Amino acid sequence: MSDPVFRVLPKLTDQNRHFWQGGQEDELRFLRCQPCGTWIHPPSPLCPACLGKDLRVEAVSGRATVLTFTLNHQQWVPAPDHPYAIAIVALEEQEGLRLMTNVVNCPAEEVRIGMAVRVVFEQHDDVWFPLFEPDEDA
Ligand SMILES: [Zn+2]
Repeated sequence: MSDPVFRVLPKLTDQNRHFWQGGQEDELRFLRCQPCGTWIHPPSPLCPACLGKDLRVEAVSGRATVLTFTLNHQQWVPAPDHPYAIAIVALEEQEGLRLMTNVVNCPAEEVRIGMAVRVVFEQHDDVWFPLFEPDEDA
């Protein structure tokens, strides 16, 4: 049996492990600058806002909004149902804190810009991909 979803697994490092494995505890995690509170993604050794080095891993709520999306109709790689939605979502914690992801658990045709979504995780080996589904409570 082949895996139903093709995903390129990221290379885990000490700098990104918190992000790719947070789903193990059902948490979407980013580095956060302690002095100024800026969330940092992708991981960096310095805060881009204040150049501070006191960065710690913290979890966000997982709530986000669809900023833009595209429907993938072409089967370049083995994938589940077609079409599926590739989206950029904005996390509610901070302007500019964005992820490229898939919107799942709803028909791709129902994905809309501005739609409220929340994180769900999909495990592949030792990586938990953050995907997003419609947030019924929003
Ligand atoms: Zn900072």
